[in-house]
Amino acid sequence: MEHSHGAPRAPASSVDTEQLALEMTERFRQVLSTRRMNELTLRSGQSRPSSPAPRDFGTPQPPSAQNPPPPYSSLRNIPMVPQPPQDARSVRFRNMLQSLSNMPLRWENPGLLDEALRVVPLEQIYNQAEEESQILQAEAESLGSGKKAAWGYQDCVVRALMRWFKRSFFTWVNNPACSRCYSPTIVVGMAAPLPDEQARGANQVELYKCSVEQCGTYERYPRYNDAFVLLQTRRGRCGEWANCFTMLCRAVGSRVRWVWNSEDHVWTEVYSVHRKRWIHVDVCEEAWDKPRLYTEGWGKKLSYCIAFSADGAMDVTRRYIRDPSKYSLERNRAPEAVLLHIMDEIRAMRRNNMSKQEKFRLEGEDMREDRELRGYVISSIAHKVSKINADDIASGRYSSPRPDPDSAKALEGRTSGNSQWIRARGEGGRGTSNQQDPHNQHPR
Ligand SMILES: [Zn+2]
Repeated sequence: MEHSHGAPRAPASSVDTEQLALEMTERFRQVLSTRRMNELTLRSGQSRPSSPAPRDFGTPQPPSAQNPPPPYSSLRNIPMVPQPPQDARSVRFRNMLQSLSNMPLRWENPGLLDEALRVVPLEQIYNQAEEESQILQAEAESLGSGKKAAWGYQDCVVRALMRWFKRSFFTWVNNPACSRCYSPTIVVGMAAPLPDEQARGANQVELYKCSVEQCGTYERYPRYNDAFVLLQTRRGRCGEWANCFTMLCRAVGSRVRWVWNSEDHVWTEVYSVHRKRWIHVDVCEEAWDKPRLYTEGWGKKLSYCIAFSADGAMDVTRRYIRDPSKYSLERNRAPEAVLLHIMDEIRAMRRNNMSKQEKFRLEGEDMREDRELRGYVISSIAHKVSKINADDIASGRYSSPRPDPDSAKALEGRTSGNSQWIRARGEGGRGTSNQQDPHNQHPR
């Protein structure tokens, strides 16, 4: 980025520097704001409605009860025809996913996004991004001609934003500390939200009591799910972290996804224009592009990871489970053909108002991603096969493949949350208990 300094200045005093910083920050805001407005106007010729468009799923499809879906797991690789949900369980799953899919729409509000950037130290973040992208560029050049930098400038902006968010902005909450004597608190249960909590969008309030008997103060922990409210409260668990951070990624101009995992976690994906693919970002862990973290790192088993954006939905489970034989849980909320149908429905709904070209472009992107996800399955199988020694098979010595050295970087436990909470969730990394506590009521 070019830093123009205008007219020559007198020897810089600290006031001048401050003024300059303020001016530059303001300029960044202007540029972002203009770009975002352009983006939104270009996208569909009309601004996005604040509520989802009327549902139009096309002509109803005939019931196909005589044609039950084949036993299938999308983690395998069999083409299949989408089927509308028929049983009550599948209908419930569809309703839940449709409701979750609204989350990213709340961040498509240019006014609120501009406002949100006021809490972000933009100058610091852009300087760090600039520096990192120059280093990456130099590294690439030193490797010879035609080499591309590992990450582009905008990727570095999100990386810097992630570091700032985790290290200086947001706080992790298990039990909130007593506000009177700062002692630890003990969970009491759930409470009804107070009017002001409800007004700010908290439908659930956790109640805690100070562990010091003479104090006995009650602490309320309202679970806000409005990203803009979270800019003020600046605390929470994975749910609040992912919500607020994903919104800020949007605010600095990235395309974003909110990834819902059925085993009680949420995280972000950001589209890298430089790499032409979606990148896993978990701000709670300061993890960038480490999709194997949950399985190979935390030793967690997963069933569904579904990504929602303002313009679509995608089952991205295969990005996060590279070894289904070890890390996949049964996917029994709906037949796989029904899940495909639900994804199609959500996409159709989000793209309803878009131009033909825009739809076409997004379909191309979906197909590229599908190829990418299938590629993970294929390379995982190929990797396993390559580890098998023919002699061992012949002599009956073959048992199981050796671990993949590449996966070592994923083998770290989670860093957010205290150790007790992590153990209860079975997310301590390799070598810790894998038991996931079904009684953990509000870990997100
Ligand atoms: Zn107290």
